[in-house]
Amino acid sequence: GPVIELHAAGKTYRTGTVEFEALRGVDLAIHQGEYVAIMGPSGSGKSTLMNILGCLDVLTTGQYRLAGDDVGDLDEEDLAAIRNHQIGFVFQQFHLLPSLSAWRNVELPLTYRRVAPDERRARATAALERVGLGDRLANRPGELSGGQQQRVAVARALVGEPAMILADEPTGNLDSASTEDVLGLFDDLHAQGRTIVLITHELEVAERARRIVRVRDGLIQSDTLTSGVAA
Ligand code: ADP
Ligand code: ADP
Repeated sequence: GPVIELHAAGKTYRTGTVEFEALRGVDLAIHQGEYVAIMGPSGSGKSTLMNILGCLDVLTTGQYRLAGDDVGDLDEEDLAAIRNHQIGFVFQQFHLLPSLSAWRNVELPLTYRRVAPDERRARATAALERVGLGDRLANRPGELSGGQQQRVAVARALVGEPAMILADEPTGNLDSASTEDVLGLFDDLHAQGRTIVLITHELEVAERARRIVRVRDGLIQSDTLTSGVAA
């Protein structure tokens, strides 16, 4: 079945007595190997959807299945385990630990999974080589450009072989050359069969994906295929 299945997904925020329905019945299926962009204006529900897909928050109504598991009945510890095993996160602000080398940052998800040190080292090195940073293993984030830092973050997202990569505005803080580096990396990962979900408000970025899901007022407004070759 699909990697991601949302059925009638609803999310209501409550602030005191005030309720706000940020997701109002979303149906979405994403299969293994798809490269999907989720687009929408500010306030449309993208962050809410990202938090749900990333198991950082849970639905109020409806169902979310990730890699066959029903996320709905899980406790916080199980959700943390799913985040660590099934999802590789890439954020706008990189979220690297500044005191650690690129190599140690990439190794971290494997540390949480109790992978032995020799294997961690080998896999982190391979992931950094894959993003073109095999010569920057020992550098800390502050010694790298923004584009290089985001490539370290992509290596960290990849190292655990997750079911999907979930990227939230990954090029939002990058210049156009670095944006191209990161999007080129996503093209490669897609070609290698990775599942990628990219949240963005930029059409030029979204058009690099093969499918664009547009969200508006907590509903899916359109779901279209693209050529994936936009400049
Ligand atoms: P986007 O990422 O597309 O800007 P969000 O998912 O952040 O949209 O927000 C969707 C709607 O839900 C907005 O109207 C926002 O104000 C509201 N919202 C988001 N988070 C909360 C929250 N924690 N409490 C109350 N309302 C929220
Ligand atoms: P963006 O539009 O960049 O996605 P937002 O400004 O909508 O981000 O939201 C930033 C954070 O604040 C999110 O974690 C969101 O859930 C929360 N948030 C957004 N709107 C509200 C709100 N009305 N009340 C409480 N929290 C909110």
